[in-house]
Amino acid sequence: MYNQFLNYRKKMKDVESAISLLNWDMETYMPEGAASMRSGHISTLSSIYHELATASDYESMLKNLQDDTTLNFSQKRNVELCLKDLSRAKKLPASYVEALSHATSSGFINWQKAVKAKDFSLFAPSLKKLLTLKKEEANYVGYEGHIYNAFLAEFEPGTTSEEVDIIFQDVKEKLIPLLKQITQKESADNSFLKVHFDEQKQWDFSLELLKQMGLDFKYGRQDKSHHPFSTSFGSEDCRVTTHVHANDVMNTIGSCIHEGGHALYEQGLSAIAYGLPEAQAISYGLHESQSRFWENNIGLSKAYWQYNLPRMQTYFPEQLQGIDLSTFYRAINIVRPSLIRTASDEITYHFHIMIRYEIEKALLTDQIKVEDLPAYWNAKYKEYLGIEVPDVAQGVLQDVHWSHGAFGYFPTYSLGSFYAAQWHAKLKELYPDFDAKVACGDLAFIKEWLNQNIHKHGRLYSASELCTKLTGEPLSFKYFLSYAQNKYLP
Ligand SMILES: [Zn+2]
Repeated sequence: MYNQFLNYRKKMKDVESAISLLNWDMETYMPEGAASMRSGHISTLSSIYHELATASDYESMLKNLQDDTTLNFSQKRNVELCLKDLSRAKKLPASYVEALSHATSSGFINWQKAVKAKDFSLFAPSLKKLLTLKKEEANYVGYEGHIYNAFLAEFEPGTTSEEVDIIFQDVKEKLIPLLKQITQKESADNSFLKVHFDEQKQWDFSLELLKQMGLDFKYGRQDKSHHPFSTSFGSEDCRVTTHVHANDVMNTIGSCIHEGGHALYEQGLSAIAYGLPEAQAISYGLHESQSRFWENNIGLSKAYWQYNLPRMQTYFPEQLQGIDLSTFYRAINIVRPSLIRTASDEITYHFHIMIRYEIEKALLTDQIKVEDLPAYWNAKYKEYLGIEVPDVAQGVLQDVHWSHGAFGYFPTYSLGSFYAAQWHAKLKELYPDFDAKVACGDLAFIKEWLNQNIHKHGRLYSASELCTKLTGEPLSFKYFLSYAQNKYLP
């Protein structure tokens, strides 16, 4: 019976991988004229997937296995998680799924129009519709406590809004004073990084950095896309994409390392457990804990650049001539409140997320009206970051997430950074020569630790169980705070 289950899950995963591959192609190589045919391909495969994922045969197979006492720990856990996923999928009526799919398609189109025209009113009706639908969804799937928990369950299963509140309370109480201290002293100059850097050389250097991290190009590749992303079709085929910024080399490098961190997670998942929850990432926050760990904790560290600055200088001798490590290190670590989340530094980033989190909760509980959203947004930016928002395109409309109806997604970015700080602290405890190793270009021990302790378990443990198993306690903001204090206060 368990073998039958394995074959069934493999079939589901094959269909899902085909959809992912078509999506990857759509963002990279697909000719423009193929768009409408392609959405047909994807929609056909998606309905085949939905049939497989909600079939009554599949459900009875799972229910029989649930009573099978011969299963071992991981087998049992795989069955339990599949049942959990199935029960959530079955709670949403087909008519609702269809209505949401229409609302997100037109929401995305109207969001694009509104950004272009810098006119929030072009998006407001779509956002209202999406909020109504998402509240309906919360009732279908059910939740305890705050309605926000219905959405967190999708992106960060096992974490509640009440827990996220505690973490952002810490952000507010401890990060605001720290930010003040840091920005008072901020005087670094990064203008030498904002000049033209040859695009092909940026590409070549980024591949060298990915190989250093241990990304295995026998089982993956990098391509170009408008927005960088990573995807995988199983641990034996993991793709990253990048966007080369001719005049912003560190943007290219940071996002390559970020996506590389995602891809290492996917490559580290079990190949044997293909199709099972055991070969799936735990949550969005845990995925971000990998990408942000590599991007920030490693990729913005002095030790990392002690090794890599000389290498970068061989690619770009003109632009980086005479730049020493400490000048470079300060230039890539400037902390300064800014308007745009994706361009912000690793400290102020969390205020961008906290603002979105507070707004989502207020919208979902009708504490604010959609019409008042731009003014509310601007007031929050003034309050937390002390900056004026010039227009809605650089304000409330800067992110695509809400146009897709993705409420509950934003906190996973901050949770990811905070988990990353906790892994970082653990690694430094286990390897007292951590920085010395990194400064010699040795990153293999880090990848190995992540592989053995995080990646290979897939979803067998929840985020909080895994965190406690590895660090002795569940997620705690104190690790990020001490990381930030140690890095930015001296
Ligand atoms: Zn990411």
